[in-house]
Amino acid sequence: MNKEKGGEIMSDYYIKTRSYEVFASKAMKNILDRNCDYRRYCWNQALALWNDLYSAHQIYDKICYTTFTPKKNKRSNKLKIIQKDVHLNPSPNWRLVRDRLVEDKEDWQFTYSAHLLQLAVQDLGKAWKSFFDKAQPDWGKPHFKSKRAPRQGFKSDQAKLIDGRLFLEKPQGLKKDWEPLILSEKPMNYPTGVMSFYRENGCYFVSIPYKIPKRKIIKKADTGKATGVDLNVGHFNYLGGNKSILPKKLEQTYEKIKHYQRLLARKREVNGKEQAMQSKKYLKTKTKLQAAYQRASNIQNDLMQKFTTMLVDNYDSIVIEDLDVKKMMMSHVASKGMHRSMFGKFRQVLSYKCEWYGKKLIVANKLYPSTQRCAVCGLVKKGDEKITLYGNKKHGTKHNEFICYNPNCPNYNKKVDRDENAMLNLTILIKHPELNKAL
Ligand SMILES: [Zn+2]
Repeated sequence: MNKEKGGEIMSDYYIKTRSYEVFASKAMKNILDRNCDYRRYCWNQALALWNDLYSAHQIYDKICYTTFTPKKNKRSNKLKIIQKDVHLNPSPNWRLVRDRLVEDKEDWQFTYSAHLLQLAVQDLGKAWKSFFDKAQPDWGKPHFKSKRAPRQGFKSDQAKLIDGRLFLEKPQGLKKDWEPLILSEKPMNYPTGVMSFYRENGCYFVSIPYKIPKRKIIKKADTGKATGVDLNVGHFNYLGGNKSILPKKLEQTYEKIKHYQRLLARKREVNGKEQAMQSKKYLKTKTKLQAAYQRASNIQNDLMQKFTTMLVDNYDSIVIEDLDVKKMMMSHVASKGMHRSMFGKFRQVLSYKCEWYGKKLIVANKLYPSTQRCAVCGLVKKGDEKITLYGNKKHGTKHNEFICYNPNCPNYNKKVDRDENAMLNLTILIKHPELNKAL
């Protein structure tokens, strides 16, 4: 798997997947819903058949061993091969399952694209494969899909982008008008592979993979500028200023998440987990929680996309901290885990944008004391001089201040912003890479 990924980077293409919200007419929404239902139907049918075949296989497997193993020396070659096959392929082939399902197709199924069935069975095949490949972290036997699951979806390898609009494949024999789907953003060129459609909280989305030739990505113009980016709970500091990453609307969404989480927990406590999960009210709250998650994630994505674009537009080199460095205090943030994940998002998005646009990304050494160093004279605070998340006890420094006590420093005894100082220390690494270590 890794080799393949490495190959992608080395090749002349970038593979990139992008998600869009889909806006559809009422008729097309119906089609999307129908496809979701049909995909689930195919998956569950295939899984039932697969389970049967698998049990039969297991019995067969046992017979093979008990019958043939004791007579080791008398086995013919043919028997040996059978035994080996059983051992290597404990799961039936997905093509076999597909063919059986196609044979048993009922009339109504022909009003759906045949690709829906094919892709559902293929994906189930992958799920079975990872079930046997126990090295995979989330291995487990594939499950039946529920109509009540908050996320429903289907896949298509036939949908086409024409003039920025998305056309689903038309099932054979359908005479009705086929309307295009409108996407929330202009799609890119060079779509490739299978598109994933899904519905969540009454909204429709599609993920489209792209294979973009490297030569098509235009390098951004050099600006001759460089900056460090210091990550903090509510804001990121960079040379151009201070970018808030906790706007009011995100904070409010976090509050909502926390509120719904509490409601659900209380319901589980009072009514017992099993009972609570069956109640309509519980499901309704759960849907609201998921909608809030979705909204928070959208706001975060939007923020990160805009901020990273601004960075690659304006700077040739960007220095960021190693994310493990700051054990963030997030006491005043409602949804800490969700907020913390933004740092990962930031690094991921910035990494690929730098690569695309020919900009340099430098990650500071974990031990580089960006918070403890004075960006003006270079003195590094040690021992009880150190600045903690609460400031410095010995000198009574506040949590957001940095004061240099080196009498020879031009900034001696001057209050400066702690995060600004840290950001400048990161920026210095571009001209002085030799400092990028424990000091
Ligand atoms: Zn100093």
